[in-house]
Amino acid sequence: MSQKTRFLLLNFIFLIFTIPVIGQRLFTADTTHRCIYSDTWFSDDIILFEAEPEVSKMVEAILRAGNISNLPFEVAYASVPNVAAVMDREKNYLLYNKSYFSANRQDQALLYFMLAHAIGHFQNRHDLNGEHLRSSEETGADEFAGFVMRKIGITTRDELYRVIRTTPFSYKKVDKEARIAAFNSGWNRADAHLKGQGGGNSFYEEGMRDATLPLPSFTWPPPPQYTSHVLPKNLYDPKVAPTLGHIDNIICNALDARGYSQRSYFCVPNGFAMVTQLEQFNKTGTSKGEESRWVDYPVQENFDGFWDYMKALVLPTVGYFRVFVFVVTDKTFSQPLGKNIPVKEAEGWIGRGGRWLPEVVGNIHTTNNYRVTVLVYEFEATQANKIAKQKHPCLLTGQKHLETSGLLNAISK
Ligand SMILES: [Zn+2]
Repeated sequence: MSQKTRFLLLNFIFLIFTIPVIGQRLFTADTTHRCIYSDTWFSDDIILFEAEPEVSKMVEAILRAGNISNLPFEVAYASVPNVAAVMDREKNYLLYNKSYFSANRQDQALLYFMLAHAIGHFQNRHDLNGEHLRSSEETGADEFAGFVMRKIGITTRDELYRVIRTTPFSYKKVDKEARIAAFNSGWNRADAHLKGQGGGNSFYEEGMRDATLPLPSFTWPPPPQYTSHVLPKNLYDPKVAPTLGHIDNIICNALDARGYSQRSYFCVPNGFAMVTQLEQFNKTGTSKGEESRWVDYPVQENFDGFWDYMKALVLPTVGYFRVFVFVVTDKTFSQPLGKNIPVKEAEGWIGRGGRWLPEVVGNIHTTNNYRVTVLVYEFEATQANKIAKQKHPCLLTGQKHLETSGLLNAISK
C-alpha cells in the first residue's frame, strides 16, 4: 500500500469514528441555569441523542394536559443522573437518562412526574440560577407537575406523594412539605377545571374555555386576612390606560422605581393579579435596607445605641413581612372568612406565576369598571422561632403600606 493510500485510508477510518451518527451531537449550551432532579453532577462532554418515541409521547401528553401549544424546548437523552432541565439563553433542553428510564419503566408516576417538573420550569420561565429564588422555583415546578398529573390521570395522588418523598432531590434546602403543598395546589386546580369550575376563574370560563390558559389562576376570591387599598381611578383611567397592558406598565414602573424587581403573574376573572416577593419592612411600613429586605427571618438593624443593641441580643426581635398583590379586574370581590395562609404559600406565589403579562391578557381593553386593588398580606416572626405567621389584624392599613413603601407616590408620577 502506498504512503498516500495509507494516509487516505487512515483518514477515512478516522472520519467514520468521529462523524456523529445522525441525531447525535455534542451538547454545547450554557448549563448554568438548570435543574437536575437528583444528584448534581453534569459531565463536561454531553452527547445528545434523539429522544425515544415513548418519552416524546410522555412529553406530548404533559404539554396537552397543560394546554401548552407554544413552548419550544428540545427533548434528548444524555448522560445526566435522571432528568435535567437546562435553560440556555438560546434554547431550552429537557434531558433524560435512557438507562434510568428503562430501569424504571414500570414506575410511570416517577417518570412522568420528573418530566413534568422539568417542563414546569420552562413553562414558568424560571431563572434556575443560584440559591436566591430556588425554593419558590422548585415548588412552582411542582405545582405545574401536580396540575398536569391530575389532568393526565394515569396515577393517584398517593403515588405522587411517594415519588416526592422518596426520590432523591438535588435541592435539599427546599422543604419537602412545601413541595407537597405546591403539588396539591396544582392537583386541586386541575380538579376544579375537570369539574367545570375553572378554578373559579371566570376569565378562563368566559373567554378562554378552549384556548390556552395563559397563566396559572390565583385563588378566587383571594385568600383572606389581608389589608387592602383601591388605587385612585384617575391613575389608570381608560384614556390613560386603554388596555390591561398599559395598567401593567404603570404598576411595573412604580415597582421598578422602588426596587421590587421580582414579581409573578396570575389569571383572575377578566384580568390579572401580580404578586411581589416577600419583603421585610420596619414597623413604620418603610422597607428594610437592601441587606435585610429580602431575607425571610427577622433582622435587627439601625441600633440607636448600646442599650438597643443589648436589648436585641436578649429580647426576641420581631420581623415584619409583607407580600403585595395587585389585582386588576372589573369584577368586584369581597374578603371571605377563612384561615390564615402559611407564609410558605405566600412566598411560593413568586415562583408559581408567569414572569410577565402575556399579550393575550395585556391586549384586553379596559372599561370604566376596571379597578386596581392592592392586597397586602402581612406576616410576623420573632427572633426566637424565626417562623413568620400571618398577622391579623394587620399592623398597617393598605393605604399606609402603599405610602410608606413609596409605591403610591411612584404610581402617581
Ligand atoms: Zn426543579
